[in-house]
Amino acid sequence: MVEQVNFNHSAGVPIDERVLAAMQPYFRTYYGNPGSVHTAGQQSAKAVENARIQVARLIGADAKDKIIFTSGATESNNLALQGFAYRNRRKGNHIILSQVEHLSIINTVKFLNKQGFESTQVPVDEFGLVNTKALEEAITDQTILISIQHANNEVGTVQPLAEIGKIAKSAEIPLHVDAVASAGQIPINVSDHGISLLTLSSNDLYGPKGVGALYLEKGIAVQTIILGGGQEYGIRSGSENVPGIVGMGLAAEIAMRQQPEFASYLTGLRDDLIQGILKKVDEAYLNGHPTKRLPNNANIRFSYIEGEAITLHLSFQGFLVATSSACTSKTLAPSHCLMSMGISEAEAHGALQLTLGRENTQAQIDRFVEVLPPIVEKLRAMSPLSKDVPYELFENEEHEHHH
Ligand code: PMP
Repeated sequence: MVEQVNFNHSAGVPIDERVLAAMQPYFRTYYGNPGSVHTAGQQSAKAVENARIQVARLIGADAKDKIIFTSGATESNNLALQGFAYRNRRKGNHIILSQVEHLSIINTVKFLNKQGFESTQVPVDEFGLVNTKALEEAITDQTILISIQHANNEVGTVQPLAEIGKIAKSAEIPLHVDAVASAGQIPINVSDHGISLLTLSSNDLYGPKGVGALYLEKGIAVQTIILGGGQEYGIRSGSENVPGIVGMGLAAEIAMRQQPEFASYLTGLRDDLIQGILKKVDEAYLNGHPTKRLPNNANIRFSYIEGEAITLHLSFQGFLVATSSACTSKTLAPSHCLMSMGISEAEAHGALQLTLGRENTQAQIDRFVEVLPPIVEKLRAMSPLSKDVPYELFENEEHEHHH
């Protein structure tokens, strides 16, 4: 058996052993419901409050702000957008987002559009950076919320949040930030960046799956979208997932304490990976920004071949990787993110998304850089496309195939 190497951390991260150990007692010993007044309940309630403080510290939140625990980033994004839109309907009906948001944002806004909310998707440049001038111009007197991610999960581009925060502040419009891809990778501070709502995912912090959080600045009100017993300040009902929340709390604490160390380690691996591939493979191009990118992200497209085929060959060699969006590679549609960056549909299909993690090693990077070029060469030899037979000749077929 070849060693299994995970270069697909944006889809799943192995939980930190310290986190797993900290969760263990909350399954059987401290099983109480935080809503119960007896001692078992109060032990759990204390653990949840401690986790709230740990998560708040990671993002520089104030004691007066709220951290709402959810089932994950998708729920946090739904609560942020739907909850805010319903609650603030009287103030206006316009929401601004970017073209490269995660589908849990894009599809939630589409759902709101069916209920009378208007939206504007701000374009990005060739590197995936949000056009801040277009953002400013998109603001109307009906705009109630701006939702822009901190960093892109797919191509790794880090947005100019400070500038975006300033634009939102001066227009007096709350800013929601999806920080799933960036939290723990690069510093984030809600007060420095003028953020009013922020989405986090536990698993991306090396915590357990099935837990997330939504930060709400003091004074920001959202309507509940999950009704019931009134847990989580009445905003998100349902008995708390205590082991999961405890795990997310410790994961956040570790992420904050060790962020600089992890970032410098991963940046080194990432740069060797990118340089190694670009040096050894012709007509391979980096997607996303060359410098303003996440420490753990390398996204590279290879002309004339399909990312799916590369992925399959790499998995025979033990490397777990993804094509374009890690969350949507089940569909044949090309990545909306790459397309927004002006990359053609055909080229977008040749993209490989490599997301590294703390447990990856230099030896794994070196082996990958050895293993990949012959795979690309073999697939290109079988491809009908080449420098001399450009994509345009196949465009009609391409469209029949994918639509
Ligand atoms: N936002 C971003 C930027 C993501 O990458 C993801 C997926 N990892 C999500 C939101 C949704 O997260 P989940 O599937 O854990 O709910």
